[in-house]
Amino acid sequence: ESKKIKSNAKLFVNSMEESYLMNIIIEQELKKAVDNHELFMVYQPQIDASGYIHGIEALVRWNNAILGSVPPDKFIPVAETSGQMLKIGHFIIDYTLREIKEVQKILNITFQTSINISVRQFMEVGFLTHFLNAIESAELYQVSITIEITENLLIEDIQYILPLLEEIRGYGIQISMDDFGTGYSSLSMLRRLPIDELKIDKSFVDTIVEEIAAQKMVQNIIAIGKNLNMHILAEGVETKEQSALLKAFGCDRFQGYYFSKPLLKDDLISFFQNHEKG
Ligand code: C2E
Ligand code: CA
Ligand code: CA
Ligand code: CA
Repeated sequence: ESKKIKSNAKLFVNSMEESYLMNIIIEQELKKAVDNHELFMVYQPQIDASGYIHGIEALVRWNNAILGSVPPDKFIPVAETSGQMLKIGHFIIDYTLREIKEVQKILNITFQTSINISVRQFMEVGFLTHFLNAIESAELYQVSITIEITENLLIEDIQYILPLLEEIRGYGIQISMDDFGTGYSSLSMLRRLPIDELKIDKSFVDTIVEEIAAQKMVQNIIAIGKNLNMHILAEGVETKEQSALLKAFGCDRFQGYYFSKPLLKDDLISFFQNHEKG
């Protein structure tokens, strides 16, 4: 009986789609999510041009009793606007670094760990202090950590952002520009930013085999990044053809279902153990 109520609730929730009401329920349920241990992390491998595992991107997951599994691009924006991103952001950082330390200890290796930092999280006073403390208590190297920011961040006060990015870089933490080419961007701005890596958005990768326009776009992004001494990572790589083309264009890092889906910690350990290279 309770199962039936639950599945009816899920149907109801599905029918609400992205409605206002849905966001209110997400907001309410999210308030208890950290304390109820409903959030956890998965890790997607990133492969370099010679086939070695460069590192992983940490991606958050949420399983809720009423809502089921809610994708991060649905609940992160709600967390941002309802003032919950600080707490959830701290959870993401602490949980990821703890699990990654475990993986590195078990395998006796180090690799790069990329963590998505939302705009609100980045702009929060005390963000960097918490981040540095978390790296230190996990006993990880600062240089093995990357933060992924998006172009949306550049809409915020650049007089605040630029020095903070420089400071973060000064600690050896790497900076990656996520979803590059999809948002607000200016080349002159990009040149001023201390960025180590550009991530080519999945939307370009999706059509790269068929569409000349997407190929041109990707070639241009790679040329810009290379000019500015940045690494280029392509995300959402699903086929061998996409991978080969991106490699031929000069991409040096790859991430997508073709290599691996995001994995739970134990499956990540197995992935490392079974991977022929690195
Ligand atoms: P993103 O940072 O661009 O992450 C890439 C998304 O593409 C992830 O979706 C990943 O699971 C998915 N993906 C990777 N490879 C493939 C592929 O080959 N095919 C397909 N179809 N998808 C692929 P996910 O995990 O649902 O995350 C969606 C977005 O939510 C992320 O986009 C990011 O903006 C946000 N997000 C996820 N985790 C976090 C987090 O821990 N913190 C913050 N602030 N945002 C997060
Ligand atoms: Ca990302
Ligand atoms: Ca991305
Ligand atoms: Ca994306």
